[in-house]
Formats: sequence, structure tokens, C-alpha cells
Amino acid sequence: MKSQAIRGMNDVLPEEAATWRFLLDAVRDLVEAYGYREIQLPIVEYTELFRRSIGDTTDIVEKEMYTFLDRNGESLTLRPEATASMVRAGITNGLLHNQRQKLWTSGPMFRYEKPQQGRYRQFHQIDVEALGFAGPDVDAELIILSARMWRRLGIDRLSLEINSLGDPDSRARYRSELVKYFSAVKKELDEDSMRRLEKNPLRILDSKNPAMQDVVAGAPVMLDFLDEASALHFSQLKGLLDAAEVAYTVNPRLVRGLDYYNRTVFEWVTDALGSQGAVCSGGRYDGLVEKLGGKPTPAIGWAMGVERLVALHAVCGGDVKPPAPDVYVVTVGQAAEQAGFELSEQLRDAIPGARFEQNLGGGSFKSQLKRADKSGAGYALILGEEEVSNATVGLKPLRKKEDQTPVARADLVKVLAERLSDSA
Ligand code: ATP
Ligand code: MG
Repeated sequence: MKSQAIRGMNDVLPEEAATWRFLLDAVRDLVEAYGYREIQLPIVEYTELFRRSIGDTTDIVEKEMYTFLDRNGESLTLRPEATASMVRAGITNGLLHNQRQKLWTSGPMFRYEKPQQGRYRQFHQIDVEALGFAGPDVDAELIILSARMWRRLGIDRLSLEINSLGDPDSRARYRSELVKYFSAVKKELDEDSMRRLEKNPLRILDSKNPAMQDVVAGAPVMLDFLDEASALHFSQLKGLLDAAEVAYTVNPRLVRGLDYYNRTVFEWVTDALGSQGAVCSGGRYDGLVEKLGGKPTPAIGWAMGVERLVALHAVCGGDVKPPAPDVYVVTVGQAAEQAGFELSEQLRDAIPGARFEQNLGGGSFKSQLKRADKSGAGYALILGEEEVSNATVGLKPLRKKEDQTPVARADLVKVLAERLSDSA
């Protein structure tokens, strides 16, 4: 039996889990304030869903999916991303019949990538999607919302890149220009790019191979091939971002790693996390609902990598501590142990917001006080035989130099509630 986690799959320990919760709560509050509602989706879907949506010749589908046969011989896959499931759920549940939906979800995603800092095999995303909206107003809203999110979280080392991939026809024209260009410089292409040249030449632009950067930089750009409607959509989006004072760079080589995108694509990138710079990425996918069997429905969304968000939050000075108890209840002797248990329960009833940690497993007065101190509690409540027999409790502040004072049981709730609200 190997007591080892799977490579690229991480435990999130309590210290870090506090940051995760803080960030998830903040993002949830924000997206819900913009009218997005939570939806929860399965982690496993039919493999076909991802092949059809993400695209057969993407890295994800070609080599990164966790795919297996279930006991019934069906091919299933651990979701590598959430948009496909979101659309599938919209169709399955009839959420898109003459309705528009603004939805968000979060949870683990799985990709068999090379694990490194900021790139894992199980990672987490927060996904925000608007289905049934043609934009460009919703495109702008989703980006402006994310800009507000960085401000709220005190994250400033991010910049916004946007691009337009046009409609399928203009993309086809661009594609053939790209094939011409890359065919002429074949000698300089790496193995992946050679393969993509035939099947999916746009993907070459997304190459992470440094040796490919020069060839890619010389390639024709999509923006020169945009159809009129997409060009208008893009300029309106830029106008809305300008009006909202959200700064951006147009990156004509931004194509994104999934095939379903059209028109608007964008990415929030940072230079603070080494080469794993994309923190939040999204785009429009107007053809996907129909492709997966629904009625034509324009849609757009973004996904944020939680691990990268957590790392960036720390780089920008964020520091969230797991909550400590307010009060640690020390009980010495059998009678006191029994009475302490009852007392803790009474206090939990009487002061519902407060955190009481009951000493468990006995121990000397000294060792219990040590535990109390280590717990980070602001106060120890002390019950010994004497306190039990005269109906008092010792109250000892742990974070400031102040002696233990006896408090009558009858006054305890009042005294404690006051102390806790003072220190809050
Ligand atoms: P990258 O270019 O870094 O591979 P991507 O384009 O594959 O990212 P998306 O599929 O758009 O990313 O996913 C959205 C977000 O999820 C990314 O911006 C990133 O923050 C995060 N992400 C993607 N893959 C991973 C991974 N393997 N580990 C951790 N986070 C990831
Ligand atoms: Mg990727």
C-alpha cells in the first residue's frame, strides 16, 4: 500500500484551506451580486461530451483526459473543464428553452499534464457562464466583474489580454492563410506543430514551446481576417471596457486551448507566477449549445484557476489565518470534566457565534493550558473541583497579561459575551 498522493494531485492543508475559503466566498459573493446563480455539476461525464465540445485535436482531448470504462463498458471521463458540462446541463434540464441563464459553479478539474508549480493534474476552477446572451454587453460585464474581483481581493499584478476569433467563415479564411504561412516555414516547426498543421493549425499559435515563439510571432493575425459583424462586436466591447476604465491589451495571438471559442476571447495574465501566467481565461462559444444538441444559443464565460489565484493572492500580500477558537475550556478532575462538557454546550446555545473548544482526553492543568495557548484561543475557561463546588469558573485571557478571575456561573454568559464582543 503506497501512502502517497497521486502526482499532481494536492492536499490542501488547514492553513491554506482558510485562504481557499476566503477567496471562494469573496468570488461567490461578487458573482451572485451580479445575478449569477450557482449550479452544481457531476465530476464525471460521457467522454463524447468533451470530444465534441473541446475538440479532438486539442491537447486536452488528445493527451490529457482521465478516461476509463465503467462496469457497463461506457467510456467516461473526469471533467477537464466545466463549460461542456454546463452546456450539457442546460440542455438536459431544459434551462435554455426561451430562457437565458447566468450561472456559476466551482470544483475540481482533471488533466493529465506535466505537474509543476501552478500546473496540476487535479486543479480547481470557478466558472461563470452566461447562456443566451449575444453580447457585447455581457462580454464586457463578465470582464468588468473580474476586474472588480481583483480590486476586492487586493490583487494588482494582473493584466488583461483580449482578442477576437471572428465567426466560423472568417476563421476558415484565416486558417488557410495560416496553413500557407506555416507550410512555408516547416523546417522550424516542432513535432506537435507539424501534427497540428494538418489538423488544427490555430493551435500552433498556442504553443508553449519557447523555440516556436519566433515563428509564431511572424504568423498572420486573425484580426486582419475578421468578418464585419465580429469586428463591430469587438470594437463595441473595447468601447465598453474603455468606458469602464478597464485597461486591456489586444493580443492578436491569443487563441485559447479549446476549439469551441468564437469572437471574444480574453485572459487575465500575471508575471508573478513564473511561466503559469494565466489566472482567469474565457471567451464566447456561440456554436456550442447547438453542437451539443440544443437550439442555437449564444454564450460566453470564464474560468479561474483557484490554485493560481491562491498563489497570486499570497504574492500580493494576502494572508488569511484559519479561525482559532474564542474560548478553550480547561477541566481538571472527573467532576469538572463532566461539568465542563455541560457548560460548553450551554455556552454554545447562549452565544451562538462564538467558537468553544472543549479540552478532550484529560491531562494536567499545565498541559491543558498549553493546549489552550496553542489553539490560539483568546480565553481559557477553567473548571477545577473548587470551581465546581462553589459554582464559579476561572476566566483567563490568553493573549494579554492579565490574571485569571473567578466569575460566578450565573454571570458567565453576560461577562463572556461582553469580553468576546470587545475583542471582536
Ligand atoms: P494554460 O495556458 O496555463 O494551460 P489553459 O488555457 O489550459 O491554461 P483553461 O482551460 O482556459 O486554461 O482553464 C482556465 C484556468 O484554469 C486557467 O486560466 C488556469 O488558471 C487554470 N488552469 C488550467 N489548467 C490548469 C492546471 N493544469 N493546473 C492548475 N490550473 C490550471
Ligand atoms: Mg492548458
